[in-house]
Amino acid sequence: MSRVYNFSAGPAALPEEVLQQAQRELTDWNGSGMSVMEMSHRGKEFMAIAAQAEADLRELLAIPENYKVLFLQGGASSQFAAVPLNLLRGKESADYIKNGSWSKKAVQEAARYCNVNLVAEGSMCAPEQSELQCSRDAAYLHYTPNETIEGVEFPYIPESDVPLVGDFSSTLLSRPLDISRYGLIYAGAQKNVGPAGLTLVIIREDLIGQPLAHTPTMLDYATHVSNESMYNTPPTYAWYLAGLVFQWLKRNGGLSAMAEINQRKAAKLYAAIDGSDFYHNPVIPRDRSWMNVPFTLADANLDSDFLAEAKAAGLVTLKGHRSVGGMRASIYNAMPEAGVDALIAVMTDFEKRRG
Ligand SMILES: *Cc1c(COP(=O)(O)O)cnc(C)c1O
Repeated sequence: MSRVYNFSAGPAALPEEVLQQAQRELTDWNGSGMSVMEMSHRGKEFMAIAAQAEADLRELLAIPENYKVLFLQGGASSQFAAVPLNLLRGKESADYIKNGSWSKKAVQEAARYCNVNLVAEGSMCAPEQSELQCSRDAAYLHYTPNETIEGVEFPYIPESDVPLVGDFSSTLLSRPLDISRYGLIYAGAQKNVGPAGLTLVIIREDLIGQPLAHTPTMLDYATHVSNESMYNTPPTYAWYLAGLVFQWLKRNGGLSAMAEINQRKAAKLYAAIDGSDFYHNPVIPRDRSWMNVPFTLADANLDSDFLAEAKAAGLVTLKGHRSVGGMRASIYNAMPEAGVDALIAVMTDFEKRRG
């Protein structure tokens, strides 16, 4: 079986080149005689892999000196709790923007630890800056720059007097980002960064070290900062693979090159959808995601036929999230433009015969 174009939202496709390098190095990394999977996380080989990955990530995102980078486990979902536990710092409330499935989950978890002030709510859109009703006593403002399920993306970075927190799980590394605008950024790696099992946290130093009483040791950022993400066993193989992805990004022009390609991929897919009466995307153009493109067919009874034909053409995991229905094409960094072209060709052909 040859490689398919995998449109999965996550775990998602990885660059083929990265997988081939991992395959070459699988049983013997760099003459060490062992797999990265088998190495002690405290040995000099793995320490070098870990340090290189961090240096490359810092370079790609131009992360300022006063930010720490953590390579953790637990997924973005653990960060839904870690953020309030660490960032409330004596305050009792936090501001949240709720405009989709993931921000809703972040709100639900935060509500266990503080008063959640919903500064804006939206459905299938990103609230505008002028709509945000920020409170004066909030410890931080949390939002989800890209709602993976709905395919809704913020076209701007919210302004806020308090530290800004972003759940970048499905958009980190898709384009350059001004880290200095944020207090904290987190992302589960399995969408646009690497394999599942790794969670990235980028946190400004002054926000570390004042957790709520009874914060579990493993959810206290200070634990991981003072141990360079090696307080306990880190997700070593996922960390290594993410490092290979960072090198792949650097070889391919870094994040500004990614931004250009990603924008072009998304623009042509949305143009194909908008140019037809058969396919439909429910998001206003301003807030459409570059990464996750949901679309419906005019007749939902044709969904399974569409999926079958796409699969026969080597295009898989296009079924939409159960809460939205229809299709969803996730077109992260690792999805080549040729994959998007192939999808558009299948859509056009299907519409001609069945639309
Ligand atoms: C996938 C996703 C999550 C959940 O990530 P896990 O790593 O599975 O916990 C949270 N937020 C967003 C925006 C996501 O896309």
